[in-house]
Amino acid sequence: MTDLKVLKGIGEKTASYYGRLGINTVEDAVYYYPRDYIRYEPPCSGTQLKCDVTVAFEAVVAAHPLVRKVKRLSITSAKLSVDGILVTATWFNMPYLSKSLTRGKSFVFRGRLSAEGDHYHIEQPQIFKEEAYREMLGHINPVYSLTKGLSNQAMTKTVKNAFDCLGDTVESEVYDMHFPKDEKTLERARTKLVFEEFLIFMLRLKLLRKDEQFAKNDFNIIESAQCERIIERLPYRLTDAQSRVWSEIKQDLCSNRSMHRLIQGDVGSGKTVLAILSAIMVAVNKHQCAIMAPTEILAAQHYESIKKIIRDSDLDINVVLLTGSMTEASKKNVRALIEDGSADIIIGTHALFYEKVIYSDLALVITDEQHRFGVGQRSRLSSKNPQNDAHVLVMSATPIPRTLALIMYGDLDISVIDEVPSHKLPIKNAVVNESFRQKAYEFMEKEIRAHHQVYVICPLIEASEGLDVRNVTDTAKMLSERCAGDIRVGMLHGRMKASDKQKIMDEFANGCIDILVSTTVVEVGVNVPNATVMMIEDADRFGLAALHQLRGRIGRGIAQSYCIFMSQSSNPNTMKRLEILKRSNDGFKIAQEDLKQRGPGELFGFRQSGDIRFKLGDIYTDSALLSKASEEADRILRDDPDLLRTENKRYRSALEAADLFSVSASL
Ligand code: ADP
Ligand code: MG
Repeated sequence: MTDLKVLKGIGEKTASYYGRLGINTVEDAVYYYPRDYIRYEPPCSGTQLKCDVTVAFEAVVAAHPLVRKVKRLSITSAKLSVDGILVTATWFNMPYLSKSLTRGKSFVFRGRLSAEGDHYHIEQPQIFKEEAYREMLGHINPVYSLTKGLSNQAMTKTVKNAFDCLGDTVESEVYDMHFPKDEKTLERARTKLVFEEFLIFMLRLKLLRKDEQFAKNDFNIIESAQCERIIERLPYRLTDAQSRVWSEIKQDLCSNRSMHRLIQGDVGSGKTVLAILSAIMVAVNKHQCAIMAPTEILAAQHYESIKKIIRDSDLDINVVLLTGSMTEASKKNVRALIEDGSADIIIGTHALFYEKVIYSDLALVITDEQHRFGVGQRSRLSSKNPQNDAHVLVMSATPIPRTLALIMYGDLDISVIDEVPSHKLPIKNAVVNESFRQKAYEFMEKEIRAHHQVYVICPLIEASEGLDVRNVTDTAKMLSERCAGDIRVGMLHGRMKASDKQKIMDEFANGCIDILVSTTVVEVGVNVPNATVMMIEDADRFGLAALHQLRGRIGRGIAQSYCIFMSQSSNPNTMKRLEILKRSNDGFKIAQEDLKQRGPGELFGFRQSGDIRFKLGDIYTDSALLSKASEEADRILRDDPDLLRTENKRYRSALEAADLFSVSASL
């Protein structure tokens, strides 16, 4: 590995920006694949200017830009002349632009024009030096995910320099992913890399599975009347699907062959209660159960719900919470309770297997939102009991078709909860554009006055140069200024401290926050039934599966819920995709439609979708490659089960890097 700072133009400060994107070495830079690609338009002349489509034009700065402050927002505006035709341009929160946009200088600007009286207006156009722009014309250019302080041009240069620095050691396909000669080269490179990625994944899965199969235990778990009593006392009746799956789980738990079961159920189908019942059944039988959630917020939420049920039913069960952000002292405390057996149900995040936790008698491991964890992580936890192989229950809302599920989850038994509680009103959906914004805000206010709560979801945490996309920071600011008075606005995103996130989530759950502006960190599992409106900004930037998960945060209570998908896009395909969500609230249907519309192998936007995240691959659209990789993995392992042959060495080292061999060694 080579430190990124050996590259030209990267000092301490710039390196820290790259660090935020996970790029710390020259190698990281070459594997930081573009999020999209673009062919730039040749600059048009004054008479060719058009509204409402993306155009590029060369213009002279006609007057020195003005910077205004409106509350905490700074607005830079400049008059530009394109062959004598006037265009006014504005940028938000980029006051430093006024330094470089000096009068008389000319640049290439790129964005969408709108007509304003007798002249044109443009918001947030990108700015390029002429020669830099010309250089990009005529070929495919990479578009990277960025962070504050980094421009796409800077990133592109760094990636180029990184390739120069590493020379021939990098596969040519990796280069082609960044700077392809043409669409065909790109597609070929991607296919090769996706196949490799899937192959490693499948090898990993199959090696783990070998150890899991036919695991036995002698926990002697029996059915418990307490669980049935809890079910009777629930404020609702279990759906038929929930009851059926509950019977399947009970049967598995009572068997001496360890359970390996996947519960697949759409968002809101009621998986949590089944997890809780299973945990209690194991605890009543005097064994330990661990429940692993993908986020601290979700872990805390499960902890509260399970404690409430135990309290209400007067059970003598001790529940503990273990998360990474707890103080060392309290973690130590909890670990002691787990080790001496006084903790019966342990709820937590990744900390459950990364921290040095020793279980006294672990009999059941439940993983919520399975797709968020690596396969290796799950297995690591289930092997924490040296005498017995713990039962494993994984829950997922990912609506993957059965054929795919068989590849991804192999010999797991699959239970499907194919119905949602029937008394719930289906969510009402709207796909709208900017012209609806005022109305949307008024509507939100009305709902808040009726004592409901609102989510506003933005793709970004903070403004990113050149990206005309809403961000949490500015949106929260704007909304709290707009709603001055009694409406309380809160903000949530992945870069906040865990304790701050928890505080905000608690406040939202308790009704102390009316509008929660957030990134997709609320995507998984969060349950605040009083929230009835979700507004998703720049909805076209999310994959359908992610949008469906997000929407699952509302429609959880008895009141009517509403989801507003905002999109500025005029691309008919994008609109068609969003219309699918408008028409259906059924995750399986949405996934199928999405697949049909996009078709496999679609070139652009391929990294958007999917909950099961690969660096490049998409299990939906690349499903053919996935099955090919699965067959290839079988073939390799049949001939060379321990990957010792020379031609398989690189797979072995990839798996060793992923910690696989050391894990199975400790089984
Ligand atoms: P998910 O399957 O997405 O994890 P949850 O388990 O969080 O869904 O359940 C969503 C909401 O539905 C919760 O508020 C839960 O209390 C409620 N719920 C679960 N089962 C039922 C049911 N059978 N009838 C009515 N409401 C239910
Ligand atoms: Mg859930």
